[in-house]
Amino acid sequence: MVGTAADFAPFEFIDENGNYAGFDIELMNAIAEKIGYEVKWENADFAGLVASLQTGKYDAVISGMTITASRQEEVDFSKPYFRSDQAVVVQASNTTILSREDLADKKIGVQLGTTGELLARELVSDKGNVYAYDSPDQAFLDLNTGRLDAVVNDLPVSGYFLVRNQNLPLKIAFTIETEEYYGIAIKKGNTELAEKINNALVELKQEGKYAEIYQKWFETEPPADIP
Ligand code: GLN
Repeated sequence: MVGTAADFAPFEFIDENGNYAGFDIELMNAIAEKIGYEVKWENADFAGLVASLQTGKYDAVISGMTITASRQEEVDFSKPYFRSDQAVVVQASNTTILSREDLADKKIGVQLGTTGELLARELVSDKGNVYAYDSPDQAFLDLNTGRLDAVVNDLPVSGYFLVRNQNLPLKIAFTIETEEYYGIAIKKGNTELAEKINNALVELKQEGKYAEIYQKWFETEPPADIP
């Protein structure tokens, strides 16, 4: 069973027909096909995915999850399959939030348990001004109503949300180049599965299948060095 937080389009979301969809979903299905497994998906809050992997509920987690040193103490990761940065989203009419320093005394929304949350905590002078939501969409909606001044969230997801919700007057104020690498998380010590996933990633890249999936969701060529 593979765990994901399907609130993170274009990586993972539930489409209008109720099916799992997105870059991560297609990539993981392609990996599983190579290995000879069929993926059984489970949707859960992002903040609980690592724990469910540790208890053995999941065999793997794919969820736009950044490979970080602290997560590596709890789980193992595949080789990186995507490179990402953070975006600071504000109301379209905002003219005062232009750089990191401008966020020191602002209310910032984030998704709970994410690298965006950690970054936001570094940016504010009072940690009580960081508001954590189960999904990024909830934070964007509170930004729209003015309950928040900004949302810090992964750049590709923020960009995708803005393009698909043009009725919401929001914009990206600026990006923060955190250079994060997403990996598929596996239970610590399950080197056999890690190796199978890594080999499948290499094959998918060689066959052009990785580029095909990337092109479909991001409408551009993948960087040459990933995965
Ligand atoms: N890449 C970010 C992280 O790993 C956000 C992931 C997510 O919200 N799905 O924390």
